Amino acid sequence: MNSITLLDKLFENKSLSLDEYKFLVENYDKSNARYAATLAVKRRKEIYSNSVFIRGLIEISNICKNDCYYCGIRCSNKNVDRFRLNKEDILSSCDKGYSLGFRTFVMQGGEDPYFTDEIMCDIVKSIKEKYPDCAVTLSLGERSKESYQKLFDSGADRYLLRHETADCEHYAKLHPESLTLENRMQCLKDLRKIGFQVGCGFMVGSPYQTGEHIAKDLKFIENFKPDMCGIGPFIPHKDTPFKDFSSGSVSLTCYLLSVIRLIHPRVLLPATTALGTLMDKGREMGILSGANVVMPNLSPEDTRKKYELYNNKLSTGAESANGLEALRKNLDEIGYEIEIGRGDIRKEDIYEQL
Ligand code: SAH
Repeated sequence: MNSITLLDKLFENKSLSLDEYKFLVENYDKSNARYAATLAVKRRKEIYSNSVFIRGLIEISNICKNDCYYCGIRCSNKNVDRFRLNKEDILSSCDKGYSLGFRTFVMQGGEDPYFTDEIMCDIVKSIKEKYPDCAVTLSLGERSKESYQKLFDSGADRYLLRHETADCEHYAKLHPESLTLENRMQCLKDLRKIGFQVGCGFMVGSPYQTGEHIAKDLKFIENFKPDMCGIGPFIPHKDTPFKDFSSGSVSLTCYLLSVIRLIHPRVLLPATTALGTLMDKGREMGILSGANVVMPNLSPEDTRKKYELYNNKLSTGAESANGLEALRKNLDEIGYEIEIGRGDIRKEDIYEQL
């Protein structure tokens, strides 16, 4: 096997075997990465030209009932200054975002029992009433199918739920027993069936991750064909059991962004905050590797620092919504421009009618 040949094959067929994916991951080097990025950018340009979509990220709560070993806001971390936004806070973040040009609002948070269906549906409805031209994305973890249905019926358009790893045993090394890959996958299937645009994803370089695990993630993405896919490097947090593990690699993350673009050319692929946190211009590198979405932070200034999933998480500069001009300039320098609009996935049938 040879990586260049495999990348050409992936470019043509959008599919490889598990062993071939594993080979690509395990034999990753700079020159393969450069080649993969060239192919990925070509594919992305055919569909999305040089547009980058922006999403206004609102971190609504860092209160969480779960205890994921990697996550800084896990329930057993007693050093977190916990917060939760109320409806007014959220709506005023949307107001600010709308005037800056955001047409998608992403509400993300820990699994905070306060946000019952009743409360969350009311918030979603209010946003959609006020801004019917905007998409609402939720990223609130695992809920029942009934709950997802109610949120969808209230007007939510998209749901992000990273699968975290497609390998059961690896999943068990990252999460306490109460959380299972089976349930995570069931949630993703439920969300899809209900009609959400669905996002999955995983961390690169999470503890105990092997090339085979990543190969399984790629095969899962190939089969599931998510509308969105969030991948970013793992970054340790000092108050978690994984505090002594090292961060994932920025360049492997970028390589995987390229590979995912080749597997699923239409996917909405963010250059994540974690990427920007580990490296100056990390997000731009993500875009140049095939990503086409950035998610600046719209949360109120004082709560942003408290949503610390990992240490040193970026929340200022071009990372914040206020820094949109800086982001525009950075993207312009690499030949891309922000597209104002909901930024939905361009499906084949819709695209061909254009
Ligand atoms: N509670 C929601 C949102 C989780 S936060 C949910 O369960 O989906 C969003 C993502 O941040 C997680 O899915 C995880 O992949 C990522 N994340 C958490 N801790 C991290 C860390 N230490 N380093 C990098 N990414 C992390």
